[in-house]
Amino acid sequence: MELFDVYPLFDITPVKGEGTWIYDDKGNKYMDFYGGHAVISIGHSHPHYVDRIKSQAEKLIFYSNSVQNPIQKELAKKLGELSGMEDYQLFLCNSGAEANENAIKLASFHTKRKKVVALHKGFHGRTSAAVAATDNPKIVAPVNANHEVEHLPMDDISALENTLKNEDVAALIIEGIQGVAGCYMPEKSYLKKAEELCKKYGTMLIMDEVQAGYGRSGKFFSFQLSDVNPDIVTMAKGMGNGFPVGGILIAPHIEPWKGMLGTTFGGNHLASTAALAVLEVIEKADLLNKVTEKGEWLIDQLKDLSGVKEIRGAGLMIGLEFNYPVAELRKSLLKDFRVFTGSSGNPNTLRLLPPLNVSQEEMQLFVDTIKQAISKLEENETIHLNS
Ligand code: PMP
Repeated sequence: MELFDVYPLFDITPVKGEGTWIYDDKGNKYMDFYGGHAVISIGHSHPHYVDRIKSQAEKLIFYSNSVQNPIQKELAKKLGELSGMEDYQLFLCNSGAEANENAIKLASFHTKRKKVVALHKGFHGRTSAAVAATDNPKIVAPVNANHEVEHLPMDDISALENTLKNEDVAALIIEGIQGVAGCYMPEKSYLKKAEELCKKYGTMLIMDEVQAGYGRSGKFFSFQLSDVNPDIVTMAKGMGNGFPVGGILIAPHIEPWKGMLGTTFGGNHLASTAALAVLEVIEKADLLNKVTEKGEWLIDQLKDLSGVKEIRGAGLMIGLEFNYPVAELRKSLLKDFRVFTGSSGNPNTLRLLPPLNVSQEEMQLFVDTIKQAISKLEENETIHLNS
């Protein structure tokens, strides 16, 4: 049987991961500043994380959600403590799209409205409502037609107020930092005002923290940089550090009725253990307090590199925009220098997503390496600086 070819694949076969490093089947070592698409939060195969998963797997991997699962409760408690969102309820599922699908469904049930407002270039996943909320011409499905979604420009408060005032909008869904688009961050004042408008017009504010959450921005959730209190928060990716687990946080004033949220595998013993182990590492290594400083150091080192036009993001979610398309640079970083970086919806933007516990030496090595890669391409004139 052939595999369905979902994504353009690199001709590399990773067989082992360790911290910020990946090894392929030929024994080559690669630096990972991509994290398999923002998934690796505490580094590949972190020993504590592996131990916790191993010992849980030996005890119990899964049993139905119709019985007590104390690991879920422990996870909710620790998540509340570390994020400061103790009064929210946690629903566990298996992916980012599923989290957003449930968040939109919940908002629609709660408000008894259908329409969703999302932002230009936003990415929310590939299930029905999530793909409809996504603004990307390549990621569409005919079922989108079943959803009423309007996309508005980021940071445009009057456009938002106009729509919320004139229409019955169930939810406004926003990424705290737009990942797939290329690390665009809404202004703090926009998020604050959006929160206010949502309250005024009875719209649920959903913050999609699937990519920017779990400490990546330097705060536990990136919307905390703007000091807003969303009605619903969605998360996945870094939550499991590679283990498929997602979740939504539901504000205390929303009452999901029994039966509307559910999924067979959600919050199973192994997934909850993986998510808990990630939190334990974040707490023990004091990562939340270190990410901002690391990000600022990296931004400082990278902002004046030859050809750099703009640098965006927060913490260790950095978009490095050049004056030219980065496809060649990204390819050279991978093939000639063995460094994984991320692409984005902006062809000129490289996305950098190292693990939160990346070391100073590794960051320095990355900076030295990208400088060499840029020089090599400039010497070969592969990059046309003004194209
Ligand atoms: N929301 C955001 C912000 C994302 O970046 C992604 C994945 N790129 C998703 C949702 C969808 O997550 P998943 O692939 O786990 O369904």
